[in-house]
Amino acid sequence: MGTIIDGAYWAGVSRQETAQKVQALKEKGITPRLVVLLIGDHPASASYVRGKEKAAWSVGIESEIMRFPAETDEQVILDTLDQLNQDPHVHGILVQLPLPAHMNEQRVVSRVSFEKDVDGFHERNVGALSIGTNRMVPCTPLGVMELLRYEKIDITGMHAVVIGRSNIVGKPMANLLLQANATVTICHSRTKDMRTLTRQADLLVAAVGIPRFVTAPDVKEGAVIIDVGINRVDGKICGDVDFSSVEPVASRITPVPKGVGPMTIAMLLANTVRASQIQHRV
Ligand code: NAD
Repeated sequence: MGTIIDGAYWAGVSRQETAQKVQALKEKGITPRLVVLLIGDHPASASYVRGKEKAAWSVGIESEIMRFPAETDEQVILDTLDQLNQDPHVHGILVQLPLPAHMNEQRVVSRVSFEKDVDGFHERNVGALSIGTNRMVPCTPLGVMELLRYEKIDITGMHAVVIGRSNIVGKPMANLLLQANATVTICHSRTKDMRTLTRQADLLVAAVGIPRFVTAPDVKEGAVIIDVGINRVDGKICGDVDFSSVEPVASRITPVPKGVGPMTIAMLLANTVRASQIQHRV
């Protein structure tokens, strides 16, 4: 039976650590401030953004949501980002994705100053991660690494298999695991005979976006399973791992919800504090 990794608990621990760092900054006269741009009326995005704002205030970070209608011209967003980049009282800027179809996602995301890019999506931060000089690291894979650290899972020499190669989860996840001295395999939609690979995994990270995609026959006995997926099925949230069949085979496993999700938000707060420290050279 796999021991369940309690992401909600560890996210609470992380938030406490962040709250202490916020306090230390405030004693130096610096109040970390996060601005989130929400463009359009995607219902899940609106709810994520509210969650992020609430979490920020809970650790003492000032937070503001700037809302724009879906039909807003991209130039308006770029101009807004230029102003926020110049504002010394704003330390973190996040553009909630997905953007409306008429906008160029990479152009918008890379307009955020790389020092205020708390999502870690700016090309410069992506490049830094790939050569191991990490600055702002994407929140979800960073949250997975923090979970592994809190749980004292030493991944040195492990064979880690990541399913998914997106820019926001799969690729940065693979880079972080490589930095932590795992042997890393990335699987994706074109991978042939994937089960042969996943069955070799000491650590399996699922970031596919398909409900209950990973089942017991995909998993090696005793593997550590990290489920990044957030899928809505019949009004309920489930992961990319079929928890009920995989949990008996795994040594440790993250549930969905209350696994990786809360850590993602905790890392956004940690990144905002880190951005404040970097900008004020603390
Ligand atoms: P994405 O759609 O951008 O990428 C999915 C990846 O899965 C792609 O690289 C694709 O190659 C791969 N894939 C698709 N079908 C496959 C198949 N049949 N076999 C193997 N690989 C396949 O998704 P994403 O943004 O990386 O998100 C992945 C999942 O993680 C989603 O469920 C998303 O909701 C969730 N997510 C969770 C958090 C969190 O905070 N926990 C954050 C971001 C994303």
